[in-house]
Amino acid sequence: MSMMDTKQLIEQTFQELAKDPTLLADISEAEREKFLDSAEEILTTTDKVIKSYIRVTRDNGSVIRIPAYRVQHSNVSGFYKGGIRFSENVNEDEVENLAFLMTLKNALHELPYGGAKGGVGIQPRDFSDRELYSISKKYVQRFSPDLGPTHDIPAPDVGTSARVMDWMVGEYKTIHPGDQYLNAFTGKSVENGGALGRREATGRGTFLSYFWLLNSWLDQKMSQSQEDLPKIMQHKQWNTLDELRQKHSASDPIDVAIQGFGNVGSVVAKEAFDASKINHRVIGVSDRYTTLYHPNGLNIPKLIQYTDKHIDLPKTEQDLLEAGIEATIYPPEDVLTLDAEVLFLAAIENQVHEGNMEDIKASILVEGANAPVNAQADKYLQDKGALVIPDILVNAGGVIVSYLEWKQAKITRIYSEKEVHEEMAKQLIQTYQKVYDAYFYGESQSMRKVCYTLALKRLITLLHRLGKLY
Ligand code: GLU
Repeated sequence: MSMMDTKQLIEQTFQELAKDPTLLADISEAEREKFLDSAEEILTTTDKVIKSYIRVTRDNGSVIRIPAYRVQHSNVSGFYKGGIRFSENVNEDEVENLAFLMTLKNALHELPYGGAKGGVGIQPRDFSDRELYSISKKYVQRFSPDLGPTHDIPAPDVGTSARVMDWMVGEYKTIHPGDQYLNAFTGKSVENGGALGRREATGRGTFLSYFWLLNSWLDQKMSQSQEDLPKIMQHKQWNTLDELRQKHSASDPIDVAIQGFGNVGSVVAKEAFDASKINHRVIGVSDRYTTLYHPNGLNIPKLIQYTDKHIDLPKTEQDLLEAGIEATIYPPEDVLTLDAEVLFLAAIENQVHEGNMEDIKASILVEGANAPVNAQADKYLQDKGALVIPDILVNAGGVIVSYLEWKQAKITRIYSEKEVHEEMAKQLIQTYQKVYDAYFYGESQSMRKVCYTLALKRLITLLHRLGKLY
């Protein structure tokens, strides 16, 4: 989903919301129309885009300037919040779109945050630790007037980690002596005030979105008398779930493929590998260089051990031997079209598009990354009966745990890992329940649309209550 796709979907959602009498029910019809127009104008424009070039002296003595961004999309529902990514693909349009998605994500999950995103246009692998340290410090120096624990709170994203957040918070502390600093950044190392389980949070929440649907949600509906339930409206997708359930009842494992083996993908792989109750087989995983495939399932713990040491997945037969892994090596994009029933997209945006959508065999796609399926592919797959579980619903585990980390710094009590995980799961499941009910029993053809509708309803109501629509 590009910025244009997101805006188009928002426009359609606004048209449908205009027909919803429960929204802004306390005002007259004529006023309501005007208010909705104002809300659309406010929410489809960005509060602030900051672009700057950071000067870095490379290890060889040369000086370069790197584009860097912080985009604050909206603070209607709370302080700006969102990650900072280091990636060669970073550009203004992309960061703006990702900031918009953060606004929707935080509103959907009812977190007290608005949406923001940051980016630095580098491939972090091409830079030494000293250079990355310098870039992180410079980023904070440049953007610090616009950051802060009660204004805009960054976190890690693609290409950044707890280490970068620690460096950044260190610089923030130097620039703002005497101020609160621990909750100025989240996703820090545990030693430096980070929440236990923050690194795994996005991956765990992503797997849970799918597993809870197939296991708990479906059980809940099956055990209720069908007469008491509304009519199923999304038949094809319901049948998709039912087929998987039957496969499982016959004790056959469910085949899973995962694009990306970083913080999100490797955790999803481990969750699938370990899943009790329903047996899964991870038949394919990929990273930027390789897809590894085995029809009987890959040994995920061994692969994690290998990537902990080498970062990348095994690339050659020799590497496979060292890792003790049996697998066939394919090009990275092949992971998308493997014969899997469930495909987790845990890499970057725009991976499933017009060029490959017809070759996708999975009937459930889960967007662990932000915006991995483009609008055309989204529609095509859903018309075909596949279920696309959207990014802003599934990958919010990270920002939910960020919220706990931010709170933890204020109350100076460390949440245990169990508390963090339980709180995250509780909050996610509340939203999953709302969205899955509204989707399967509602008119909306896409789960993404259901999510946008719920998020926008919250944002519009807040805008109204805050007196911003007149
Ligand atoms: N970068 C993550 C996301 O896209 C986490 C953001 C945060 O924790 O603020 O949701």
